[in-house]
Amino acid sequence: MQRKLERNFTIILLVMTVLLTGTLHFFPGLHSYAFFDTDENDDVYSVMQLIREDNSLVVQDKNLGASTHQLRMELPSDVNPEDVEISQQPLYKSFTISIPGVDNNYVYSYPLVGSSDHISDFTFDYSAGCGVFEIITDSVYELNTTMEGQYLYFDFLDPRDVYDAIVVVDAGHGGKDGGCSNGDALEKDINLAITEKMKPLFEEDDYNIGVYYTREKDFNPPYSSRVGLANELQVDLFLSVHINSTASGRVSGINGSEVMYRSADESGLSKAFANNCLESMLSTLGSNSKGLVAGDEIYIIRTSQVPVALAEIGFITNNEEKNKLISEDYQQKAAESLYNAIVNTLKENKKL
Ligand SMILES: [Zn+2]
Repeated sequence: MQRKLERNFTIILLVMTVLLTGTLHFFPGLHSYAFFDTDENDDVYSVMQLIREDNSLVVQDKNLGASTHQLRMELPSDVNPEDVEISQQPLYKSFTISIPGVDNNYVYSYPLVGSSDHISDFTFDYSAGCGVFEIITDSVYELNTTMEGQYLYFDFLDPRDVYDAIVVVDAGHGGKDGGCSNGDALEKDINLAITEKMKPLFEEDDYNIGVYYTREKDFNPPYSSRVGLANELQVDLFLSVHINSTASGRVSGINGSEVMYRSADESGLSKAFANNCLESMLSTLGSNSKGLVAGDEIYIIRTSQVPVALAEIGFITNNEEKNKLISEDYQQKAAESLYNAIVNTLKENKKL
């Protein structure tokens, strides 16, 4: 009898601990809740793991029997799974999942099931009739989403397992850092316009190349994040897109394309990639050659652990070339020339 009481007491204590731990995560009045905690060993524990002692990654799928997924989200019956918006945030370290028509009660009533070693933090925000999960990952992953009825299954996949080759494309400058300029023409805008025009080329070709962009809008990621993305992913190629100017910034007759490489790269891959970029630009754009330049003093080149090329498409300080650089047609050609340089270099390196 005494032992049974002790056991009951232990169970009650355990349940209370679980409830208290859960409650501590849900401070009323705040719209953001942390679900995951990290222990000293850097193992990630989730609220789900408190509920599911077996810590299983296997989710029972009604139709297919047992199927292995990392996370399962259940939607209320009045939410159409097609209306759920999933997007990967800049620099690819987090995903947001927006569920229209749910409120704070959603997270209590429909807990996520499963767990993933790749999740380092997890929040839920509710505003304007929409619940938004943010899943922060410990590295860059491709999110595979499977919809089945009111269930959404999520799997975080290593890009290497998804693509034949991976590259990072960096549009130089951004936000408050406009780069070089001539009148209204800003380098940051031209760089972004060119990298945006590269996107459909990769999306519509028959190659399986994973492309990660350091920015897809007007903001200025730190240099360490730009090169960090390339290094962390150990990409096959890292391309940074820039526009040149005279050192003084004054308008002059100097014009042409130039590509920087990392001379300390003993494999020679950086120089070979840079050379392909230069040759491709010269033939497609018909620009003057300003040649290949060792750019090891540039931070993103010096700290790159992967084959890097920094393409200076042309000179903004040359009025004639500036007018070309701000035209859609010339930007399209620049995008095509750099796309071709990437594909050809990947082929040369037997990545495609
Ligand atoms: Zn620049």
